[in-house]
Amino acid sequence: MASEQGLRRRLLAIARKCFWYRLMAGTWGNLSARLDGRRVLITPSGVEKTALKPGDLLLMSLDGRVLKGRLRPTTETPMHLEIYRARSDVGAVIHTHSPYALVFAVRGEEIPIVTVEAASAIGHRVPVTRYVRPGSLEMAEEVVESLGDGMAVLVRSHGVVAVGRDLDEAFHTALLVEEEARTYYLARMLGEVGSLDPGEVEALRRGFLESYGQPGKKMRIGD
Ligand SMILES: [Zn+2]
Repeated sequence: MASEQGLRRRLLAIARKCFWYRLMAGTWGNLSARLDGRRVLITPSGVEKTALKPGDLLLMSLDGRVLKGRLRPTTETPMHLEIYRARSDVGAVIHTHSPYALVFAVRGEEIPIVTVEAASAIGHRVPVTRYVRPGSLEMAEEVVESLGDGMAVLVRSHGVVAVGRDLDEAFHTALLVEEEARTYYLARMLGEVGSLDPGEVEALRRGFLESYGQPGKKMRIGD
């Protein structure tokens, strides 16, 4: 299991990558990672992620108490905690307002699976929640319900919530949701676009989970 200091540094590295890939801008977006069965690290409210220091992250219990940290946690904390409580397999949650995905969130339109990459690494269409106010308990519940046992969901008129077994996988999910939204958006400008066959999506997803990357190792994303 990762040490608390190691996880703090990893969370900051992934936050910087969210900026480089234009998944986040300004102070928008937030990230969290599970330290163990009861505690998570989470980004503070209103601080640009590239300005964060390891000590700025809040250590919180899953029931919402701040255990360590002097800043106020992200206003989306209820949603992060609700996901960890509902999904023991989730080790990290990333919330972005990435631009192409936001176009679909604004339209209330799900993102279908149109590429083999999304089929493999996400494995399902990305659904949209109904409109819920940011930071509300209602948003937390709605996101958990729409997410189900999936990897990502669009929050109506707001943004993306992506999850993974660890920070690298959650980042990869958030990036792929944006890439899929952009590809689908551009392809649709040229005409009608069909989704991949559901049976093929299932086979690609299974193949990815069984044999992608290096044997016995998790996905590796650079710093
Ligand atoms: Zn947001």
